[in-house]
Amino acid sequence: MKVLKFGGTSVGSAKNINKVISILENYSKSDSIICTVSAVGGITDKLLLAGKYAQNKDKQFKDVLESIEETHFNIVNELIPNNNDAVMAFVGSRLDELKSLLEGIFLINELSPKTSDKLVSFGELLSSYIIAETMKSRDLSADRKNSQDLIVTNSNFTKAEVDFAITNKNIQDYFAAVVQRITIIPGFVSKSALGEITTLGRGGSDFTAAIVAAALKVDQLEIWTDVSGMYTTNPKQVKQAYPIKEISYQEAMELSHFGAKVLYPPTVQPVLDLNIPIHIKNTMAPEESGTIISNNEEKTNAPVKGISNIDDIALITLQGSGMVGIPGFSKRLFETLSQEKINIILITQASSEHSICIGIDEKDVEMAKASIDTVFENEIALNKIDPLITESGLSIIALVGDNMKNHQGISGKMFSTLGRNNINIRAIAQGASEKNISAVISKKDVKKALNTLHEQFFEIKTKQLNVFITGVGNVGQKLVEQIKQQNKYLKENLKINIRVAGLSNSRKMIFNESGLDLSNWQEQLEKGQTASLQGFFENARDLNLRNSIFVDVTANYDVANLYAQYLRESIGVVACNKIACSSDFENYKLLKRLSLKYNAPYLFETNVGAGLPIIDTLNNLIASGDKVKSIHAVLSGSLNFVFNNFDDTTKFYDIVKQAGAEGYTEPDPRIDLSGVDVARKILILARESGMQLNLEDIENTPFLSQAGVDSDSVDDFYQTLIADEAHYQALFASAKANKSQLKYVATLNNGKASVGLQEIPEGHPFYNLKGSDNIVMFYTERYPEQPMIIKGAGAGADVTASGLFADIIRIGNN
Ligand code: ADP
Ligand code: ASP
Ligand code: MG
Repeated sequence: MKVLKFGGTSVGSAKNINKVISILENYSKSDSIICTVSAVGGITDKLLLAGKYAQNKDKQFKDVLESIEETHFNIVNELIPNNNDAVMAFVGSRLDELKSLLEGIFLINELSPKTSDKLVSFGELLSSYIIAETMKSRDLSADRKNSQDLIVTNSNFTKAEVDFAITNKNIQDYFAAVVQRITIIPGFVSKSALGEITTLGRGGSDFTAAIVAAALKVDQLEIWTDVSGMYTTNPKQVKQAYPIKEISYQEAMELSHFGAKVLYPPTVQPVLDLNIPIHIKNTMAPEESGTIISNNEEKTNAPVKGISNIDDIALITLQGSGMVGIPGFSKRLFETLSQEKINIILITQASSEHSICIGIDEKDVEMAKASIDTVFENEIALNKIDPLITESGLSIIALVGDNMKNHQGISGKMFSTLGRNNINIRAIAQGASEKNISAVISKKDVKKALNTLHEQFFEIKTKQLNVFITGVGNVGQKLVEQIKQQNKYLKENLKINIRVAGLSNSRKMIFNESGLDLSNWQEQLEKGQTASLQGFFENARDLNLRNSIFVDVTANYDVANLYAQYLRESIGVVACNKIACSSDFENYKLLKRLSLKYNAPYLFETNVGAGLPIIDTLNNLIASGDKVKSIHAVLSGSLNFVFNNFDDTTKFYDIVKQAGAEGYTEPDPRIDLSGVDVARKILILARESGMQLNLEDIENTPFLSQAGVDSDSVDDFYQTLIADEAHYQALFASAKANKSQLKYVATLNNGKASVGLQEIPEGHPFYNLKGSDNIVMFYTERYPEQPMIIKGAGAGADVTASGLFADIIRIGNN
């Protein structure tokens, strides 16, 4: 004999019921079968909803009832298209009874637990009847047995306790004489010794099947549902979750107790003692192997078997100096909760006994507060303890595994993973058996927590980065293209999965928590919502994805002003925008501090020398204990372009214009030609070398004519270039006479920084610098004579994008 159970989705439509029937038909060829069924998917919820409406004198209960009727009649018509009068009549009369019951509730304005059980029992009674009749209509050897005649409970309505002695005997007696091959029994429903209708608790059809399986000592219990087994974590929350092949009874029990809805927790107990394995299977994919719950669980080394969560938790905390060392407080606290039938889900108590913290269902919190404050009224009045502190909107997440006790550092890993992702832990509990480590966190963080923990314990191999890119001009576009192109390589070789979760230009923005499809991002962006800097931030924050990184590919002041906000949400910042790093020293320091405090990287390699690894190298030198003595550098692609092309055969104005047209200068060329841009860069290098400098401290000797320096507008400025051609030719002539090249040089020496045009003699490393190349020479304690030199293209969209990309990868590798 075999016992199978099919859940709500499995019997949720005529199509699915046909799948169930074909599975049963197949099985019954070799064995006789007992099949427990749930109510048609969603019906239990609807029955309760109709009951609530009726109780509240809300006529909407009629609409809900109508939809319940329609669902059942439609299923009957589809399953038994011909000669279904008798079945329709029976279903109709049950639904009439249901209607009378609801009208009664409406009339008296009350829905007791007892009536509620009667109400929900219609779901399983109807589904089991319809399925059995369908099978009979197809000449299968099938019949229904009402489990209310078999399962006897106490009168603890909505979650009654089974009297196993009587129940087992009833089941054994009935099945000893059964004639049909397939017996359909309604799950979830039962009767009290007094003959009242009771139920076994929400999700209780699993339990019904286990009770029958244990009473008959069958070889195997199969629970058929809508997923392919018990997963490493809730598959609806974590896409990467996968079915666990084998798991022990204890682990399955812990996971289900802590929220893995796929199995109703009491289900394990009856079969555990008899060693009957539970096989969880998917009705929609019967070929998949599913999960086996047993004692023969193959001993894998994996310490963590699964992660689960319970939502809608409240924490209540009783604390006060009067509790220390005085016995009896906990006893009274627990007694009070027990009297109010409030279920305790988690307990933590500091060893100082100064406080006890308990996790309960959120719906019980007001009752808990009222009753506990009453019980401790005197102590509260005497200031020995505080009134009960309550906090709602929480969830519990739990790591489960029999083997955790044999591995060190699991809880450390769990909490540091959560901490790294800015998930605040409100309370912690770890059973002495160490099969379970649980943490109470805010409900809004659950999805992120499950995903990061799953990544940590089950997919250690790839790290997911979620990037939010603002600014998709030349550089931004290249960056998106590089991410798209390198995705596969990164996954395979670096185990990094970069997803672009948000994109914005100045007009539009788009988001996708699973990562945008990058094949046509431009079109999607055109159709996006109206962009705003704050809106972009809020979306990134609310998506609450792990390893989130904000990438600033603008040169915008307001964007740079938002970095602190991002960092405070533990969202990393990668910027090619120089404004923040070269702003006031206090602000630079603040961003560095926030980055450390919130564990959110702040990287800006492209602020100096585009894609050249200048800042990273400098950071590595400092981190390894080296000290910078001086830096000599040529850091402006635009000024290099200008002075590499300007000579006595050209005009300074034409060259500057050409540099602008080719994208080498900012739209306002004065930013480059005044030396401000280079000053910012040397300032950043000085700060990264550990010096406390501001932009005003950088000595800047202009090479522009006085009129050029004083110009009020870009047009004015260009006019001065024409008018002052002789000034610029003189600069060139002097350099030529000295057999030198003009280079715009930044220097940091003895804590002082300066920028300015210099004549570089032949033989100097700067002399032969071509095109837009940059060069940096670091003289340090370890490189005192021969500097460490970094040289290469220091401007251009491609190399800047690859510098940003490198910063993102650095975060991924960390
Ligand atoms: P049934 O109606 O078949 O009894 P349930 O809805 O009660 O099905 O349970 C199956 C559901 O449990 C899945 O669809 C899934 O959303 C949820 N679930 C939560 N945690 C897990 C888990 N760890 N493994 C599998 N399913 C889970
Ligand atoms: N129909 C009941 C419920 O939805 C029992 C079950 O499906 O297991 O809770
Ligand atoms: Mg269920």
